[in-house]
Amino acid sequence: MLVFSWSYYHRYNLLLALEKSSQTDPLTGVANRRYFDSKLKSEASRSARSSSDCALILLDIDHFKRINDTFGHPTGDRVICALADLCVNQSREIDLVARLGGEEFAVILPDTNITDAKNLAERIRKHVEDISVTGDAGEIVKWTISLGVSSLPESRSSRYTTEIVMEMFIKKADNALYEAKKKGRNQTVLSQ
Ligand code: GH3
Ligand code: MG
Ligand code: MG
Repeated sequence: MLVFSWSYYHRYNLLLALEKSSQTDPLTGVANRRYFDSKLKSEASRSARSSSDCALILLDIDHFKRINDTFGHPTGDRVICALADLCVNQSREIDLVARLGGEEFAVILPDTNITDAKNLAERIRKHVEDISVTGDAGEIVKWTISLGVSSLPESRSSRYTTEIVMEMFIKKADNALYEAKKKGRNQTVLSQ
């Protein structure tokens, strides 16, 4: 009986660890793209049901290629990790920080209006200006980020499916991020 419950417990822990690793970005330890997609879907449905706000921040390191080219890939990785830590430290327990790929991150903000989301985005941006990582030869490496912020589309309760609403939600933040890059980087733009 004891042997049976021990092996059950062992397998249960193994399954938990497997599930966790399938949701996690191995470099930074934050959520991966796959978990981001499922979380965004559940938050979009929840917000539609309860008519509550939900906001999304997309953020991307400016001229990251230059950091890799100048200081090397391992230093680039340290920059990505430092940014992930900063995003986690600046957001709330209920928010979800995810690495979408390369040097792009997202923060899902449940129950948050666009003004509060913009304030968080700006707080993250300003904190990035204050931090640095150390390069392989002891250099101080600094960087900036651009951010796009969107709110869950109003039309969510009508004719659109959750998938279309999610697509619009991401697209709006992505367009805003593109605007921030176009306007000169190191800034936050709110979606229209
Ligand atoms: P922009 O300001 O327009 O965003 O320019 P950028 O240089 O940041 O953007 P670009 O897309 O040209 O370059 C992104 C670079 O990120 C290219 C790629 O080699 C690098 N990269 C992608 N994933 C990783 C990673 O995991 N680690 C490191 N160190 N570099 C990565
Ligand atoms: Mg970039
Ligand atoms: Mg990018």
